[in-house]
Amino acid sequence: MHMARKPLIAGNWKMNNTIGEAVVLAQEISNNFEKDWLETVDVAVCPPYTDLKPVYSVFEFDKLKVGVGAQNVFWEPSGAYTGEISVPMLTGIGCAWCIVGHSERRQHFGETNEDVNKKVHALLADRTRPIDPIICVGESLSVREEGTYVAFVDAQVRAAFAGVDAGVAKDCVVAYEPIWAIGTGRTATPEQAQEVCAAIRVTLADLFGQETADSIRVLYGGSMNEGNADTLLAQPDIDGGLIGGASLKAASFIQIVKAAL
Ligand code: PEP
Repeated sequence: MHMARKPLIAGNWKMNNTIGEAVVLAQEISNNFEKDWLETVDVAVCPPYTDLKPVYSVFEFDKLKVGVGAQNVFWEPSGAYTGEISVPMLTGIGCAWCIVGHSERRQHFGETNEDVNKKVHALLADRTRPIDPIICVGESLSVREEGTYVAFVDAQVRAAFAGVDAGVAKDCVVAYEPIWAIGTGRTATPEQAQEVCAAIRVTLADLFGQETADSIRVLYGGSMNEGNADTLLAQPDIDGGLIGGASLKAASFIQIVKAAL
């Protein structure tokens, strides 16, 4: 079944790059990209909101089908929510992806499992110009050391997908990102990452049936780089990567994309 899932390599730029820097990075990615890679691997970059349109325009001009994604979204379509950005606004830009529930949002901005679920529903509501959620889950170091990480991640996945139909659940991507591996250089071993990604698929099968679970991509994220991408991506239940630090350099990001070919 693994072969049936096209890998996805997604860069999470976090709060980095002004418009000028973002355009330079997108152009470097484009200049070093071979279009036929996209037959084998889906590729996306998720810049800050202010860079979404300029980055989209670079790829559009070059006729390169690298997707553009947001790092967050609010669940209401419009209204008195100062500072927030809605799904229709992202649709208008041409976003194909949206990260939801990143651990940094859960940690620093108090996002709850319920918030994540509302965002997932908001993204899945309109499938005409779809923005597919990349739902982030993952345990802290203390949960890892307690040994309860599979149950913890299972609960996060169930909460994120609460009330979602199998028919649209297949459009979602789940990213397993152990917090202790994010930005720390302490990558999960391929075995550690595979264990939890496989457990996520068991949860998805329980929720939606095996066929749907087998079609949902489960990514690994956490200090993935050009040196370790190969062995992580070789695991049967790891269908790609969500890349933070290493996505900020075109050469590293391209090397990771190539590791998924
Ligand atoms: C992330 O934050 O999604 C991430 C995986 O970061 P890094 O690759 O820098 O650990």
